[in-house]
Amino acid sequence: MTAMPMRHLLAATTLSLSLAMPAIAEDGLNAEEQAIVAAVEADFDAQIAFLEKIVNINSDTRNPAGVRKVGAVFNEEFKALGFETGWISMPEEMDRGGHFVARHMGDGGKKALLIGHLDTVFPLASPFQKFERDGNRITGPGIADMKAGDAIVLYALKALKTAGHLDRGSYTVFFTGDEESTGKPLDISRKDLIDAGKWSDFALNFEGSTEGMAVIGRRGSSGWSLTTSGVRAHSSGVFSERVGAGAIFEASRILHRFYNEVQGEHGLTFNPGVIAGGTFVEEGENTAAQNAYGKDNVVAQKAVVHGGLRFMSEEQKERARAKMREIVAANLPQTGAEITFEDSYPAMQESDANRAMLATLSDINVALGEGPLTAYPPEKRGAADASFVAPHTPTMDGLGGYGGGGHTPEEWLDLEKQKFATARAAVLLYRLMRQD
Ligand SMILES: [Zn+2]
Repeated sequence: MTAMPMRHLLAATTLSLSLAMPAIAEDGLNAEEQAIVAAVEADFDAQIAFLEKIVNINSDTRNPAGVRKVGAVFNEEFKALGFETGWISMPEEMDRGGHFVARHMGDGGKKALLIGHLDTVFPLASPFQKFERDGNRITGPGIADMKAGDAIVLYALKALKTAGHLDRGSYTVFFTGDEESTGKPLDISRKDLIDAGKWSDFALNFEGSTEGMAVIGRRGSSGWSLTTSGVRAHSSGVFSERVGAGAIFEASRILHRFYNEVQGEHGLTFNPGVIAGGTFVEEGENTAAQNAYGKDNVVAQKAVVHGGLRFMSEEQKERARAKMREIVAANLPQTGAEITFEDSYPAMQESDANRAMLATLSDINVALGEGPLTAYPPEKRGAADASFVAPHTPTMDGLGGYGGGGHTPEEWLDLEKQKFATARAAVLLYRLMRQD
């Protein structure tokens, strides 16, 4: 019996798969990388079956049991892959499912943090619950955002193991259970993720991919609350020395000056989302619900405004806040005002290290038959878990599935690009783990 040359074996494998789907180009890849891509292709049917399984488990952020169920499916797979696995529980009152963590320690080398999230925005009551395939297109809740990305992490690591490269460096896989509605306080719900970021040499997040782009910078977001006070009196006395302007004029003054004087820097935006004022303002269950009572002939005693602030860097955030505080302090007669700020997501600032990772990814994109990549405009991309680790480690995001319609019942995934994205992630890890 004559042994079939390796080249033919590979060609035969590719041929049988190509009946369903064109094979991935691999012109710029070395032999080891080609073997990694072949491993991704050979395992692709299994990946889709796995994806179907996890998409069909409801894991709304507010369904902690469902989040844990999806985590348990990953737990089995990562254990089988030789990872040490664990579950980080959140305090009862936080009402979140917790986070899945899997670790594999290689012999020296780089330390990679791979981020995903298990939760989706679709409640148990939503009619959108099932994985459905129609040719190259799959629809399903959370499929692009971001169960496809989670599956890419798993199957890229499987391919690295098959090809014999998993022990080159160490991995922490961190899938949060509350990305879509982050558990508060953040210093509890994001502590372990941030610690993993500090441990790592680089972090990759697998939120949805965009054609021609990857994310190496994104704005941070935070909240602010303004409360103004005035002298409650008959409206006939407004503007008098004793009564002054009232709480609502004071709030208007402040917002008007915010609009005129804080605006302007690239990437800086702020928006008052809700306002309530009058004789009494009662806060509802959360800041979105405000109850106001007032009369047209009574000078307002209180006004409350809640808003958001997005920024490109911590310096920009602090600069904006300083201006806002200064404006708030210049009160109209007989009024008072106070503003408080709440941090939410830090900014993920573009750095040379981030740009270097993007360049590596872009090379691989080209080697796999696609075009080169540019950085996603930071001011256009929403916040995500990658932002929490970005201040501590080089970070890149947008490596997950290709699709669209996130957070809607039309959410979909491109099947063919899923294979590409998995191969790309595996080759990326192979290259990043051997860079000095
Ligand atoms: Zn997401």
